[in-house]
Amino acid sequence: MRINIENYKRIINELDAANATLVAVSKIQPEKRILQLYNEGQRDFGENYVQELVDKHEKLPKDIRWHFIGHLQSNKVKYIASFIHLIHGVDRPVLLKEINKQALKNNREIDYLLQVHIADEETKFGFDEKNLQEFLNPDNPESDLSKFQNVRLRGLMGMATFTDDEEKIRGEFKGLKKMYDHHFTVKKFDQNEDENILPNRKIEPYILSMGMSADYKIALEEGSNMVRIGSLLFGARL
Ligand SMILES: *Cc1c(COP(=O)(O)O)cnc(C)c1O
Repeated sequence: MRINIENYKRIINELDAANATLVAVSKIQPEKRILQLYNEGQRDFGENYVQELVDKHEKLPKDIRWHFIGHLQSNKVKYIASFIHLIHGVDRPVLLKEINKQALKNNREIDYLLQVHIADEETKFGFDEKNLQEFLNPDNPESDLSKFQNVRLRGLMGMATFTDDEEKIRGEFKGLKKMYDHHFTVKKFDQNEDENILPNRKIEPYILSMGMSADYKIALEEGSNMVRIGSLLFGARL
């Protein structure tokens, strides 16, 4: 089966209008299908499994920007640290510590998003609002963030509840957008920057990664600027 180029072009147009970036979620997909999208100009691809990502990175063109969107185990960070473009799902301080360590070993900086738990389901990972607040509070002496010099916090990521209830999904995205605005856009950093901001929170533009095949339109309406879409492009994963 070929991938759906018509869907791809339509989505790209919608995203251009909303100033949002498409991460094509290519987990489980063979390399030749990824190449079909690559040949249409797509460069951002998202993967959930470390070994699969490492294999694909080796075999596919080197200008692909690989996003890790799954749940990342600390002991596997080392396999992707040399090339990963953005890690979406940082959901605990120990993981960040390991990413920082591996980034340092590779003599680079790694961009990441903090994952926020906005859904009902327990199966989804992430900080809740209160933990996020504590984690990002520069006045919190317990916060380790400024010690991590080889990682760059770029924004937030979240997944809505898997449901047909549009208003519920919309409400969850609204909540995430509010946290994003609070931590990344509304607060204008003042002149004396080193004193009051975390050194790894200076890089703009910031990223709000929310929306998948089933709910990306709602996510765009609610202010997403990066969507992660798999099945609409590649067909249902069997
Ligand atoms: C699989 C996955 C997606 C893509 O899901 P689709 O419904 O196929 O678009 C997006 N985000 C994450 C975190 C995923 O695991």
